[in-house]
Amino acid sequence: MNLILLGPPGAGKGTQAKILEEQHGFKQLSTGDMLRAAVTAGTAQGLRAKTIMDRGDLVSDDVIIAIVDERLSKPDVSKGVVFDGFPRTPAQADALDKMLAARGQKLDAVIEIKVDDEALVKRIVGRFTCAKCGQGYHSEFAKPKKTGICDVCGSTEFTRRVDDTEKTVRDRLQVYNKQTAPLVAYYHGQGNLHVIDGMADIADVTREVEAVISRVKA
Ligand code: AMP
Repeated sequence: MNLILLGPPGAGKGTQAKILEEQHGFKQLSTGDMLRAAVTAGTAQGLRAKTIMDRGDLVSDDVIIAIVDERLSKPDVSKGVVFDGFPRTPAQADALDKMLAARGQKLDAVIEIKVDDEALVKRIVGRFTCAKCGQGYHSEFAKPKKTGICDVCGSTEFTRRVDDTEKTVRDRLQVYNKQTAPLVAYYHGQGNLHVIDGMADIADVTREVEAVISRVKA
């Protein structure tokens, strides 16, 4: 099954994508994570992308489509993919339809996670992750049980994304509303769109996502 989680930064796409990976064996395909890995590895592509990402702008469609195309050619995506942070423009959406069709596949559902803009700013500015295992936390809503120690792996090192500042978040929201929000109408037109409330607790959002998956499978 191929799903898109569509929503602004901080809507909880990554959190839900990881849960779906565990529950269903789908692969999370996060273009943001792939770009950050390229930045950390210091590749030429990563270095070019870094300045754009730090500003909160979008990396060019050509670069993004090429990395997704390469990722979809790996064998571990056979059970399905949860697209997280992709597509972000109409050109990317069109390219995805073509990449799936070329592999004899299709999109099964697009789940739009709706969240209020001000709540997003609060969520993003407070979030951080364990530097060792990647467990996500929030300085207000989801602190580690023992201050400074990861609940999952015991590490004492945490990281914050450089683009998670209030200014960049507001810029990223503007970019989302201008360039990515038009995809809602595109997928509605395809009959693939399912809208869920992203303001609820993580577990409630997961239940809504699962309900969509069951409906699509039926
Ligand atoms: P994310 O982790 O999805 O919030 O992405 C972080 C940053 O990576 C974005 O602000 C963009 O600069 C870049 N990026 C990630 N995915 C895409 C995409 N599909 N198209 C263009 N830029 C992207």
